[in-house]
Amino acid sequence: MTEKKQIRAIKGTRDILPPDSALWNWFERSAREVFETYGFRDIRLPIFEQTDLFARSIGADTDVVGKEMYTFEDRDDSSISLRPEATASVARAYIEHGMHTLPGNVKLYYMGPMFRRERPQKGRYRQFYQVGAEILGQSDAPAIDAEALEMLMVLFERVGLAQTKLYVNSIGCKDCRPKYVELLREELRNVKDKLGADSQRRIETNPLRVLDSKLPEEQSIIEELPRISDHLCEACRQHFATLQQELSLRGIAYEQNWRLVRGLDYYTRTTFEVTAAGLGSQNAVCGGGRYDGLVELLGGHPTKGIGFAIGTDRVILSLQEGEKRLSMPGLAVFVAWMNSATYPTAVKIARTLRDAGFSVELLPEEMKFKKSLGLADRLGARYVLIIGEDEVASGNFTLKRLSDREQKKFSDSALIEYLQLEGRGSGA
Ligand code: ATP
Ligand code: MG
Repeated sequence: MTEKKQIRAIKGTRDILPPDSALWNWFERSAREVFETYGFRDIRLPIFEQTDLFARSIGADTDVVGKEMYTFEDRDDSSISLRPEATASVARAYIEHGMHTLPGNVKLYYMGPMFRRERPQKGRYRQFYQVGAEILGQSDAPAIDAEALEMLMVLFERVGLAQTKLYVNSIGCKDCRPKYVELLREELRNVKDKLGADSQRRIETNPLRVLDSKLPEEQSIIEELPRISDHLCEACRQHFATLQQELSLRGIAYEQNWRLVRGLDYYTRTTFEVTAAGLGSQNAVCGGGRYDGLVELLGGHPTKGIGFAIGTDRVILSLQEGEKRLSMPGLAVFVAWMNSATYPTAVKIARTLRDAGFSVELLPEEMKFKKSLGLADRLGARYVLIIGEDEVASGNFTLKRLSDREQKKFSDSALIEYLQLEGRGSGA
C-alpha cells in the first residue's frame, strides 16, 4: 500500500462540527429574528469581488487591503479578491440596484464567511464569519445610529453574551478630521523615537491607527496625545452629543473611548465596538460605525450609511466559555426491520413519520435485531419501531421506548398520534 499524504484544512480555516454547529445556527437564527423586528431584510452577496472595490472603499493603506487580502488573477487577467468584509459589497449592491429610489432607509443584514490573511490564534482566523447590518439612506440622524446599537445590544442580551461592553466614539467628518489628523501627526513626529516600528510607519500612512496600539510601552505616550473629542466641528460635536442622549433614552449602557478609530478608511463620525467575556486579547465581538461618504466614493449618489459587523466565531467562543451548550435535535425513532420481506413496509412508515416531522433513522441494510437495538441506544434514539413479519401481517407495529424499555402496539395512524402526544409531554 502506498502512503498517501493526508490533506488537512488550510491554516486559519476550521470545520464547524456538530454539536457546535447547533449553537452557530441558533445564534444566526436569533440574529435574523431580532433584525427582522427592526425592519431589516436579508441580502446575499458574492464572496468574491473586483479587488478595486475593496481598495477604493476600505483604503489601500489599511492593513486589511495592504496585507491581509486574498487576491488573485482570474483567467481573464482581472484581479479579484475574497471579501475581507461585506460593507463594501452592500454599498456596491445599493448602487448597482438603484436602491436609493426605495422609500425610507434601506436596512439590510447579511451573514457569511470573510477572509483575511492574519496570524491565526484564538478568536482570529483566516476564514471567519460575520453577521452584519447596514442602514443606507438620506438621513444621518443620530437616532439611526442609536437604533442600530439598540438592536445589536438586544441581540447580545437575547443570546446571553456575558459582560458585554459598548464603546463609542466620534472620529469627525471630512471637515474636522483632516485637521485633527494633521495635529496628531505633528505631535507624533515629536515623540517618534519613543514609538515602535509599526507606529512610526503609521505616523505618515495612517496616524489614527497609532491610537489603536496595544504596545504597553506606547500607552503613556498615547494618553498625552490630542483627543479628537476636543477637535470635532460643531456639527460633529452636536451629532455625537445627540447620539449619547439617544443611547440614554433607550437605556443602553456605553462608555466613551476616544481611542476607538477603527481600521477602515471609510468611517466618519460614530464608531463603536463591543467586547465580551472569555476571549483574552481578541475580545472585540463587534465593530462598526458611520460611513457617510462610502456610496459616493464608489460612484453612487450622496448617501448616508451606518452599520456593524459581529464576529460570529468570537460570539460562539464567548458563549461556550460561559458553558452555553445546545443539544442537537434528538433522534426520535429508529426503525428496525428484520428481512427483505419487511423492508418495503419499513420504508413507507419511515416516510410517514418523517412527513409528520419526526427525526427518523432507517437502517440501509439488514442487521440482527439485537445489534440494531444497540445502535439505536448509541444514537440516542427515543424509540425503536420494530417491524417484523408479524407486524407487517397484522398492520400493528411495536414501539419500544428506550428509556424504560416499555413496549406498546399501534396501528400506523395511532402510532403518529401517540408520538405527537408523547413529544409534547416531554417538551421535545
Ligand atoms: P480586530 O481589532 O480584532 O482585528 P477588526 O477591527 O479588524 O478587529 P472589523 O473589521 O471591525 O474587525 O470586524 C468586525 C468584527 O469581526 C470584529 O470585532 C471581530 O469580532 C471579527 N473579526 C475580525 N477579524 C477577524 C478574524 N480574523 N477572525 C475572527 N473574527 C474576526
Ligand atoms: Mg483586524
